[in-house]
Amino acid sequence: MTLHPVYGHEDLRRRLSESAAARRLPQSLLFVGPEGSGKQRLALWLGTLLLCESDPTERPCGRCRSCHLAADLQHPDLHWFFPVPSPRGSLTPEKRREKLENARFETLAARREDPLQSEEPDRAAALFLPVVEEIRSRASRRPAMSSGSVFVIGDAERMVPQASSPEAANALLKLLEEPPPDTMFVLTSSRPGLLLPTVRSRLLSVRVTPVGTGTTARFLETEAGLESARAQEFALRSGGRIGTALRLAEASEDPRDPAIRFVRAAMADRRSGRWALAASFAPAGARGGFSDMLDLVEAVLRDCITISVESALSAIDPDLIQQLPGVRSIAPDRWVSAVSRVEQARDAALGNGNPQAISAVLLARLARELRPGESAGPERLRPARVSGAS
Ligand SMILES: [Zn+2]
Repeated sequence: MTLHPVYGHEDLRRRLSESAAARRLPQSLLFVGPEGSGKQRLALWLGTLLLCESDPTERPCGRCRSCHLAADLQHPDLHWFFPVPSPRGSLTPEKRREKLENARFETLAARREDPLQSEEPDRAAALFLPVVEEIRSRASRRPAMSSGSVFVIGDAERMVPQASSPEAANALLKLLEEPPPDTMFVLTSSRPGLLLPTVRSRLLSVRVTPVGTGTTARFLETEAGLESARAQEFALRSGGRIGTALRLAEASEDPRDPAIRFVRAAMADRRSGRWALAASFAPAGARGGFSDMLDLVEAVLRDCITISVESALSAIDPDLIQQLPGVRSIAPDRWVSAVSRVEQARDAALGNGNPQAISAVLLARLARELRPGESAGPERLRPARVSGAS
């Protein structure tokens, strides 16, 4: 289960589910509300509801095959699009579309790995024309397993990155004018005034209000494991918006947290998560903050050695044991080898290598040390992910 449960929005959810049960929902909706108020999460909830296989009165049931796939962001008929940065370099249209799709897949993979991650939105990201073409081609296909398909398109106002190129919005307009049968579009926007009026006129606006500080605090305590006082603080500062509160909490995180995330990515199943993490580092400047992070990774790994040696004791570092499930099932000598891998990476960082390349290699090597099933052999890196390697 990847997506966190929806908190709040009770009235709106009731209205939406009643309309859906009565088959009164229009095919195109626009969720409007402040940034961080949960519009995309709510849109995914509605998509899950529409595709649920259970009795209409129970939807979304959370138990059927469709609900499970949707919760894990794997449902073939629930399509989630959002702005991604433009790929660099001069590319053929096909290559550009492929790169934009890869960027989207990587974001989805990172979401699966850490559902609560809430990064500062990338202002350069947009819904470029090839993405809208991808949406159109998907919308023209038959649903894979359900009787219909649902498209969630987040931050839809970023469909027109420049006023001079309204092609993306016009391409979407054509789709909204004649939506394929059994296809539902849920667009979200915190700045609906930036949508083309023609696009906006095709959509039924639904106002999404912040869930409030009480609900936000409850979410932070229950889902993000924050202490009560911290949860209250971030809930207040966020103005009762869960997404904003998560971003604030992330920004003030424990300095060791990125290192723990790094080790967790190495221990996880998904290579795509490791690629996404490696790509999240700056492509240059390894001697600065990146070297500090490697020091912290080494410190975390040394704590893991202690935990794995003294596995009979329970109270060494309960926090770390909780944050790195499986830490005790890995033999101490594997952790020791992992530490020596970090030392090699630190040498490379001192030579001012590319942090993206260094972390990609390090994550692959750590994965081989820490994951018994990981195949030996050369690191399987996709060179395209690592720009400007030196
Ligand atoms: Zn269901």
